[in-house]
Amino acid sequence: MKYKRILLKLSGESLMGEKNYGIDPIRLQQYAEEIKKVRDLGVEIAIVIGGGNIFRGVQAENTGIDRVQGDYMGMLATLINAMALQSALEQNGMFTRLMSGIKVESVCEPFIRRRAIRHLEKKRIVIFGAGIGNPYFTTDSTASLRAVEIEADVVLKGTRVDGVYTADPEKDKTATRYATLSFTEAYEKNLNIMDMTAFTLCHENNLPIIVFDMNKSGNLEALVNGEEVGTLITS
Ligand code: UDP
Repeated sequence: MKYKRILLKLSGESLMGEKNYGIDPIRLQQYAEEIKKVRDLGVEIAIVIGGGNIFRGVQAENTGIDRVQGDYMGMLATLINAMALQSALEQNGMFTRLMSGIKVESVCEPFIRRRAIRHLEKKRIVIFGAGIGNPYFTTDSTASLRAVEIEADVVLKGTRVDGVYTADPEKDKTATRYATLSFTEAYEKNLNIMDMTAFTLCHENNLPIIVFDMNKSGNLEALVNGEEVGTLITS
C-alpha cells in the first residue's frame, strides 16, 4: 500500500450521476463500493465533498443574494451531500463521522483536528462537510487544508476525466494526458487543476495531488496500491 492516509475530494457535481440536479443514488452506491475497497485494505480515509450540484456562492450574486450569504448556502449544500454520502457508507458497513466547518450540532460534530485524527486512527471514515466554514473559499481549498492538518499522504481529486490534459479533452481531440507534473510546470502551463489557494497550499506543504477518474471502478484502489492512474502532481 503506497498511501496509508488519504484525503479524497469529490465534487458535488459528481454526485449528480446521470441526473441534472441533486444526488443520484446509483452514483452514491458506486462511490460507497469504491471507498469500501480501500477501507478494506486498512487505508485511513478522509473525504471532502463539494456542493456544486445544489448551490454555489457565485450563483447567488445573479439572484440578488449577497456573496457571503450565498457562500454559506453553498457550505450548507456540501453538508447535504456529506450526509447522503455518510448514509451510503454506513449502509455498506463502514463506520463514519461527519465533521462540519460550521456548527450544526444536531447533525454532526464540529471539526476538531485532534478528534479527526483519532477517528482516522480508529479506521472511521471522516467526512468534512461545510468546507472550511468561511466564505470566499472552495471545497478544493478545504481538501488541501484538511489534508495538511491531518497529515494525509496525498490529496486524491476524483473527477470524471482521467487526469490533467494539455487541453480540454472534451473539446480538443488532440489533447494528451500528463502522467506526472511538477507544481511549477502546472503554474507555468496555466493548468487549471484546483483553484490557486488550494493548489498553493499543497505545493507549499509538499503534499502530492492525484487527479483521477473516480467513475472508473477500481481506480481508487489501484491508486492507493501505487499503480499509475490519472495525473500525479508533486514538487
Ligand atoms: N464554500 C465556502 N467556503 C468553503 C467551502 C465552500 O464558501 O470553505 C461555498 C462556496 O460558495 C462554494 C460552495 O460552498 O461555491 C460549494 O462548494 P464548491 O463550489 O467547492 O463545490 P464543488 O465545485 O466541489 O461541487
